[in-house]
Amino acid sequence: MAKKGDMFYAWSTDADLQKKGECGGAVSAILKHALESRAVDAVLAVKKGADIYTAEPALITNPADIAQTAGSLHCGTLLLSKLVKKYLDGANGMKLAVTVKGCDLMGLLELAKRNAINLDNLFLIGVNCGGSVSPVTARKMIADKYGVNPDDVVKEEIDKGQFIIQTKDGQHKGISMDELEEHGYGRRSNCRRCKMKIPRQADLACGNWGVIGDKAGKATFVEVCSDRGARMLDSAVQANKLAVEAPNPKGIEIRGKTENAMFKLGDKWRKKDFAALGRDVWTTIAKETSRCIKCYSCIENCPVCFEVADELKKPSLLVKAGELPPNPMFHLRRFAHISDSCINCGQCEELCAMDIPLALFSHAIRVEGDAAFEPKLGAPAYKN
Ligand code: FAD
Ligand code: SF4
Ligand code: SF4
Ligand code: SF4
Repeated sequence: MAKKGDMFYAWSTDADLQKKGECGGAVSAILKHALESRAVDAVLAVKKGADIYTAEPALITNPADIAQTAGSLHCGTLLLSKLVKKYLDGANGMKLAVTVKGCDLMGLLELAKRNAINLDNLFLIGVNCGGSVSPVTARKMIADKYGVNPDDVVKEEIDKGQFIIQTKDGQHKGISMDELEEHGYGRRSNCRRCKMKIPRQADLACGNWGVIGDKAGKATFVEVCSDRGARMLDSAVQANKLAVEAPNPKGIEIRGKTENAMFKLGDKWRKKDFAALGRDVWTTIAKETSRCIKCYSCIENCPVCFEVADELKKPSLLVKAGELPPNPMFHLRRFAHISDSCINCGQCEELCAMDIPLALFSHAIRVEGDAAFEPKLGAPAYKN
């Protein structure tokens, strides 16, 4: 019997899921089993859209459709958290399994702190996350650095620090993330600063770090993070949907070292990005936000703000209706709202119509606050 803290190499026993899955299809096998065994009513996951740059949320109730969601989309920068509240009634009327990156998970925890979703009805399968690449950057990067037409790319992966593309004619080309990032490409800036690498507040945390030897690329490293996660894993194994074995001790060590190296890298980027704000932070923020067209996208797409979007959009003593650019108080009001909760998911920045580096500002404010106050970023959800 598995228990919290246990670790496994795991893979699907289904040949199709093994083939379509990123690393042996363990995540898809567990999701499919959760549906088949009626442990959940539906699965919320991510599937490839028209091309590798398009990641779409998928709500699945038929176990046969799970295969559509197998595979990792590194240009998939969508955030699933608010969808649970906006379209699924906060999972109040249904049991839902959700695949979550660190930011998806933190977004859900923030919503749970506000009683906006029912965590008890959510089974969370975490995927480790080294970072994602904005689809816009990815297209430009592939044209400029790889010399390839972005529309000719049929697959991408991140392996051993390289972003690797595969073209229609079967060619592979990889360039190291470090090199890409030196030239202004690579992961989103919020991802570079992110330190939620192994999402242990989910029920299971799954990833490829630490899978070595003959299982490399064919199995997923699963860390059991809750009793519920242990029960689901046991149930999938007993139903013969999932195969597991003990991880190679050297693999466990490598996984730990990789996670630590990613923390250090995150700290390095924080130092660099926050220092670039300069001593005159107010001037920097005022200059950048002066091109705001008040489209409200930052408010509507933030997992922390969208719950109070109507309030944040209202005119006030200083923020006049129809005034462009808005009085800086429009932004200060929002920063005040998220200053203890920004999860650095990057949605506000990525979806800003005017490319204002909003997540950088709110993340810097949150990190400063974190040094002084509780709860810390990513702290467990509390009720009430
Ligand atoms: P599969 O059976 O292939 O299932 C994959 C699941 O991931 C599906 O449920 C799918 O809906 C979901 N998914 C795909 N793309 C996204 C997305 N953009 N956002 C949310 N969910 C998504 N592991 C590491 O150990 N180190 C890493 O640095 C790392 N970086 C990753 C970065 C991203 C953006 C993603 C999505 C995953 C990353 N992983 C990383 C996890 C790894 O790639 C595999 O997902 C994991 O090993 C599970 O493999 P599998 O074959 O069991 O999953
Ligand atoms: Fe992954 Fe963190 Fe970026 Fe989310 S913010 S995509 S968890 S690196
Ligand atoms: Fe995410 Fe931006 Fe909201 Fe912070 S302020 S939680 S980065 S959308
Ligand atoms: Fe202004 Fe950008 Fe927010 Fe739109 S998303 S309101 S342009 S800061």
